[in-house]
Amino acid sequence: MKLGEWFRGQECPRHIPGHIFFGRVLVVKCGVAPSLKLTEDPHRRLNALTNEWVLVSPHRATRPWQGEVAQLNNTPEPAYDPNCYLCPGNLRAGGIRNPAYSSTFVLENDFAALKRETPHDRLDVDGKGLLVAEGEPGVCSVICFSPRHDLTLSTMELGDIACVVQTWAEQFRELGDLDFINHVQIFENRGAMMGASNPHPHCQVWATASIPEAPAKELAAQGAYFSSCDRCLLCDYIRLEEQFQARIVYQNEGFIALVPFWAVWPFEVLICSRRHFACMNEFAPDEPRSLGAMLQQVTAIYDKVFGVPFPYSMGFHQSPTDGAAHQEWHFHAHFYPPLLRSATIRKFMVGFEMLGMPQRDITPESAAERLRELARG
Ligand SMILES: [Zn+2]
Ligand SMILES: [Zn+2]
Ligand SMILES: [Zn+2]
Repeated sequence: MKLGEWFRGQECPRHIPGHIFFGRVLVVKCGVAPSLKLTEDPHRRLNALTNEWVLVSPHRATRPWQGEVAQLNNTPEPAYDPNCYLCPGNLRAGGIRNPAYSSTFVLENDFAALKRETPHDRLDVDGKGLLVAEGEPGVCSVICFSPRHDLTLSTMELGDIACVVQTWAEQFRELGDLDFINHVQIFENRGAMMGASNPHPHCQVWATASIPEAPAKELAAQGAYFSSCDRCLLCDYIRLEEQFQARIVYQNEGFIALVPFWAVWPFEVLICSRRHFACMNEFAPDEPRSLGAMLQQVTAIYDKVFGVPFPYSMGFHQSPTDGAAHQEWHFHAHFYPPLLRSATIRKFMVGFEMLGMPQRDITPESAAERLRELARG
């Protein structure tokens, strides 16, 4: 195909800066720079991983950066809190006492949202598909990253974070191997703003019989890309990002962190493995440490954005554990931090975002530039 040729109703075989090129999108003009300016014009971007759109309004963010560092009431946490139900040796709900653990610690969630023995039945009350419910058997566990109440991924030693990654991998394997489990979601909610009820460094693992909505959309998109191109969507996407550089935040030998082209949250970050693999069961020997280093780096950068411990929800998206091969799936993690302009101003998904689609002002490219500067500093 020649540059400048017009294609209607075809998927673009090339990747052109400033052009939307993935998925079901009709490419109108290929090879000629479009007049649409992604740095100035309101536009929507396609999330190639989910086939959802986000509205970007860069003209609303042309004012200079106002990264004021608000002084919050940030009393440092104690190394041990006698009232914390996750600290070593303390009592939990139901009178269970934590052991005097000295590294990572896995426990069953005392207030689990899922139960193993739930019947996996489907109800369709009137047979019309209008009142449908399904039993969701599952397992919820909690992983304490450290016995220290006052640490975070950004302040823990690298060796200790690598230990956490190993524990994640063990939990993923153990829960994923259960017959009735088809998906394992490991996630961390950090900060009161994200509804985290306890500052003790910990994450949760929810293993379910069904594949939840977000990974199911990504499974469909990665599957469609793989069957039409015979290649992995995220491998191709990473190659493009390496070409453009504009959205890359940080890289190490095993992983790459970037603000995705389709980011919704102001400082959203996607971490992808450089190597194509689907889940933690396939880690190469040096990858847990490399992932640990990446998490330490990204969370430390975040803490510098507004000079406060940065709240976020983060989690790993791994291939379903349904026994299929899932060559299409590429291991990655999402960080969704809510902060927008200061330590106290958060982004809300309301109004048009709730009823229409998500929207952002600061472009993913400017957010990446800001994070990159902090990585260097
Ligand atoms: Zn604690
Ligand atoms: Zn891949
Ligand atoms: Zn994902």
